[in-house]
Amino acid sequence: RAKADGRGVFRIFEADMDRKLRERRALEQDLRSALAGGQLFLHYQPQASVSGEIVGFEALIRWTHKQRGTIPPAEFIPVAEESGLIVPVGEWVLREACREAASWVKPIQVGVNLSPVQFRQGNLPDLVHSVLLETGLDPKRLELEVTESVLFDDFSRASSILRRLKSLGVKIALDDFGTGYSSLSYLQSFPFDKIKIDKSFVWMIQKNPQSAAIIRAIVGLGRGLSMHIIAEGVETIDQLDFLSEEGCDALQGYLIGRPYPIEAYANEVGRPAAIASVARPRRGR
Ligand code: C2E
Ligand code: MG
Ligand code: MG
Ligand code: MG
Repeated sequence: RAKADGRGVFRIFEADMDRKLRERRALEQDLRSALAGGQLFLHYQPQASVSGEIVGFEALIRWTHKQRGTIPPAEFIPVAEESGLIVPVGEWVLREACREAASWVKPIQVGVNLSPVQFRQGNLPDLVHSVLLETGLDPKRLELEVTESVLFDDFSRASSILRRLKSLGVKIALDDFGTGYSSLSYLQSFPFDKIKIDKSFVWMIQKNPQSAAIIRAIVGLGRGLSMHIIAEGVETIDQLDFLSEEGCDALQGYLIGRPYPIEAYANEVGRPAAIASVARPRRGR
């Protein structure tokens, strides 16, 4: 009896695995054609200094699936990473974001997220170099966002790639800081320009006094290492007040602005109106 039950359970499990695998493959195929068919686009989320000045935008990928509608990056980025599709997708994001930022009148920064897979495959420094030349974007206006996972993959390889990237004149930000392993040795062994405090800490400020202590410590650490500190996920005035009192340099979050098509921020970037109106139809996609 027990054996029969076990086999039954196993068959259900197998069917479930099979279904998940098929769904994943379908999503991968759809993403491949979305990339080829120009169905991917970018939203831009503003970053403000504590004095309220817009200092940059983070480019965030968006995909409106023909049948399923909006699919969040948290769902399709892992699929893209597993299949290697993140390499051409990431290249598209980089080129698109640099081209966009190069058209802004205000010389503020643009942040682009990089996947650890882009460090393992292809030649990232050469790609970034040629995209900068091609788009004419001033290298110091490009900020590449990486997570610690990039460094624990293959530390010496990753840090040499990061160094080559930095020598191009671009900035490197450590994203989602405080999650994952957050080994302090990473901070010491690579000169990041900026630390992005993960939103999970920001959201705990009111609820948990310990998170306030953690934020205080991260800010102190950044200060000591001459790294800029930006807090992510800022949604309330209380969080803003706390973070600026603690000495964060900049803030990003729904309170400052949500990720939107760049046309929504035409004034903030000083985007030429003519270009904005040509691009406007993309908004509905
Ligand atoms: P991330 O790089 O940490 O980006 C910040 C995420 O937090 C974004 O989610 C943003 O919409 C969200 N966010 C910002 N402020 C707030 C807030 O105040 N409240 C809330 N609830 N959320 C806020 P999104 O766009 O869904 O992206 C999720 C993750 O997907 C990103 O996290 C990043 O890891 C990845 N991702 C997005 N675009 C790309 C890309 O072009 N390439 C790669 N490799 N990964 C990307
Ligand atoms: Mg990011
Ligand atoms: Mg983040
Ligand atoms: Mg993230």
